[in-house]
Amino acid sequence: MTCACGAQFTTGSTKPTIAVEVCSHCHPLWTGQQKFLDTAGRVEKFNQRAAMADKKKAEAAARKSRKAADAEAASASL
Ligand SMILES: [Zn+2]
Repeated sequence: MTCACGAQFTTGSTKPTIAVEVCSHCHPLWTGQQKFLDTAGRVEKFNQRAAMADKKKAEAAARKSRKAADAEAASASL
């Protein structure tokens, strides 16, 4: 399936080639909505990943400092 915008994609159609003037890639409504949705999803995912990384970093730091404190306590009791 080919579109006037140059986009090519396969469909479940039995016809080998279908030419269309507007497709989901170049239709203004679609491109606007899709871009908006895509961007929103990516930003959300990025934020989630960043928050996750921060959490993991904080956890690792807490674990490290606790270990250090334990070691300090152990050496102090000796
Ligand atoms: Zn198109």
